[in-house]
Amino acid sequence: MTRTLQSYIAGRWIGAEAAQTLRSAINGQPVAATHAEKIDFAEAVAHARRVGVPNLMQLDFQQRGERLKALAKFLIEQKEALYAESAHTGATRTDSWIDIEGGSGTLFAYAGVAAGDLPSGNVVHEGPVIPLGKKGGFAGTHILVPRGGVAVHINAFNFPVWGLLEKFAPSFLAGVPCIGKPATATSYLTELMMRKVIESGILPEGALQLVIGGTGDLLDRLDGADVVTFTGSADTAARLRVHPNVVRHSIPFNAEADSLNCAVLAPDVTPDDEEFDLFVKEVAREMTVKAGQKCTAIRRAIVPKSYVEEVAKRLKARLAKTVVGDPALESVRMGALASQDQKGDVGAKVAELLQSAELVFGERDGFAPQGEGVANGAFFSPTLLLARDPQADGGAHDIEAFGPVSTLMAYDGLDEAIALAAKGKGSLVSTIVTKDATTAARFVPAAAAMHGRILVLDRVAAAESTGHGSPLPVLKHGGPGRAGGGEELGGLRAVKHYLQRTAVQGSPAMLAAVTGEHVRGAPVNEDGVHPFRKHFEDLQIGDSLLTHRRTVSEADIVAFGGLSGDYFYMHFDEIAAKDSPFGKRIAHGYFVLSAAAGLFVSPAPGPVLANYGLDTLRFVKPVGIGDTIRARLTAKRKIDRNRKDAKGQGQGVVAWDVEVTNQNEEVVASYDILTLVAKRG
Ligand code: NDP
Repeated sequence: MTRTLQSYIAGRWIGAEAAQTLRSAINGQPVAATHAEKIDFAEAVAHARRVGVPNLMQLDFQQRGERLKALAKFLIEQKEALYAESAHTGATRTDSWIDIEGGSGTLFAYAGVAAGDLPSGNVVHEGPVIPLGKKGGFAGTHILVPRGGVAVHINAFNFPVWGLLEKFAPSFLAGVPCIGKPATATSYLTELMMRKVIESGILPEGALQLVIGGTGDLLDRLDGADVVTFTGSADTAARLRVHPNVVRHSIPFNAEADSLNCAVLAPDVTPDDEEFDLFVKEVAREMTVKAGQKCTAIRRAIVPKSYVEEVAKRLKARLAKTVVGDPALESVRMGALASQDQKGDVGAKVAELLQSAELVFGERDGFAPQGEGVANGAFFSPTLLLARDPQADGGAHDIEAFGPVSTLMAYDGLDEAIALAAKGKGSLVSTIVTKDATTAARFVPAAAAMHGRILVLDRVAAAESTGHGSPLPVLKHGGPGRAGGGEELGGLRAVKHYLQRTAVQGSPAMLAAVTGEHVRGAPVNEDGVHPFRKHFEDLQIGDSLLTHRRTVSEADIVAFGGLSGDYFYMHFDEIAAKDSPFGKRIAHGYFVLSAAAGLFVSPAPGPVLANYGLDTLRFVKPVGIGDTIRARLTAKRKIDRNRKDAKGQGQGVVAWDVEVTNQNEEVVASYDILTLVAKRG
């Protein structure tokens, strides 16, 4: 009996009666069915608000980051079950790897974003604090806080696992519960992953709900605290973007839509160059990975007029070698499209493309999918076309065949290549294959306005390249115009989409209380205990030390020069220093830094375990011979990552504000130092 898929709404699985049958892309056999029961979307949204939001807000950025890491590990352990289900989508093992392990990898990456870029607590202080008055009593800054609403994530059929996880990870980290809606065609795989997620017990209740089937009146239930993200066709994006309730409540709507991405073979590359084959390989790979069902796939291959025939010849040879069929067979390199509907759609789009293009390689070239029962599968031959008039509008500049289909286009001169690239009207990604840095420097800025990401490929990059088609968690994914105008991923950037940015004005003391960070001018706490002698738990933001003074002498400068080997004229040449902007010899900036450390450290062993760096260092004023300096050290920010060292010693991160002043109380150096501080016990 076919499995009836269930939605996970308000903490329970819903669905017993079968509705639409979902079929295997390989042999057309039923895999699962959607459920007939209607979902109460008012309940789903209320659950996210009443249960999800408070549960997520009980955790902070660091704790949610830890949950993401735990979930990533758990899903990796469960991966074989997901691979088995993924086979029904027509995916090869490599295709599924992108989806399944790419999904867990994205969770890991966002756990890393929490550890590296986010504070403890639920307020991000974006800073810097900007003085707004002359006396230091009034200042402004920016904070980011969780939006307090729910994120609705609507996904395409091509990445049933990664698609949901790459949207879920940043929203969860931001403290925003999600309602995920996978595309129906492959929702059986998303549902299986969701079962694993719920089984794991790692996510707090309400953090993630799953909708199988349509979204009914879900969008009508949202308000201004919520967010909608969408991946799919430009048509659906255009419709949902202007949904009256989305418009009325100014609900952020992020879209990733179809995109006519291109790869350009630069004029400097000749058929004898390694780069020529790199280009051919990249185009062939993008045509065949996921059977071309990738929003980032190369739809337009733009090549110098003189090399069109050679590129076509080498591409044909590669495509002819690509064994298509049931990915269960070891020899198979390309699987099926996700469904018969997609097969029909891709066939129709190729027919449209052929009105302005020649067929270079396609079904007639001995296409015979391998495997049993594949006659009812959604297989489609790799199809290479050649545009008759690349300058003309329409054709491959407008029509996206979401399958293993690409169109060759000839150009004359780099400017024409740039113009052709732009004819896609906004793309997710473009690749330029070149050996020449000048060409890259010309192409990239000119093409950047119309592309979300640009890969510059040469033999050096190729050895480690992650490829044209792979969005990476650390880099922004999304493009302008036709590509939907959205932005996803990109590390911390994506988390910020689910946070509200607010400017805050007030006195330094108020800003310190609001941001949870010391702000200069706010009261400090000097209780007589050196701040370096306090354990992480005992240390309070604002704990401070004003050091004794030290007069800088010529002997200091000479000694520091000898020690460091830095004999720069400003410190050692009386005559040249007189002609300099300072008009006299001055101390090394690094001496001031070292002297300040000498003033503020508490030398005996204690809870401060390590100094691992400096941030925002500025030498504000010169320090001359005879100047007298002192330092103020103040605990500025504490981050508890629940880390222990190899010996099991718990520790947290503390950033200290350091201000070095001279005898006139003028700041001469300003910076943050970053330390690891031991916890008690
Ligand atoms: P659709 O735009 O039809 O569907 C995308 C998602 O939107 C699906 O989850 C779909 O659900 C949902 N959806 C459709 N209509 C509505 C609606 N009125 N309200 C709420 N949700 C809705 O795209 P497909 O998945 O069918 O793919 C078609 C095309 O999308 C491809 O040919 C390709 O051009 C493009 N695409 C782009 C991608 C990208 O990343 N840029 C990725 C994948 C596809 P349901 O499945 O239940 O209809």
